Formats: sequence, C-alpha cells, structure tokens
Amino acid sequence: MFDAARQRHGDQQWWLIFSGIEAGNGTGDSVDLARATRIAAAFTEPYRFAAVTTAGFYDDAGFCGPCDAPYCHRHWNVSNTG
Ligand SMILES: [Zn+2]
Repeated sequence: MFDAARQRHGDQQWWLIFSGIEAGNGTGDSVDLARATRIAAAFTEPYRFAAVTTAGFYDDAGFCGPCDAPYCHRHWNVSNTG
C-alpha cells in the first residue's frame, strides 16, 4: 500500500491513508501540512477523546466521547461476534 501511494503521489506531499472496519480510502487523499500536523497531534498516545476529536474526522475515528474509548461496546453496537 505505501509503495503504491508513494509511486502515485511522490515523496513531497502529505497523504492521509486509512483503512477501517468496512473500508478505507485506497491510496490516500492529499492533506496540507496544517492538517497533517493536527492529525498527528490528535493521535498521540495515550489516545483520549478530547485529543482525537480535534483531528476533524466525521466519526471521530470511532472514538466514543462518553466512554473515552475506541469502538466501545455500549455505543457502537458491537455484536457478540465482533
Ligand atoms: Zn461509549
């Protein structure tokens, strides 16, 4: 994946590449330096909702605010089989 993205985009820009439970964004989307910096800061360990939500993802990257946890069982309707 990363080699394909590098061939497509080159090494001089920031690209957001993600894969999720159901889908991803393929070889990525371009992001400017400010957005790349904001995303990197949002996903610094330990992961906390207050930081993750500043990344600006429509679903807060699956992070639950009330539980301060990713894909919590209570609010994300996770089935017993996963
Ligand atoms: Zn929750």
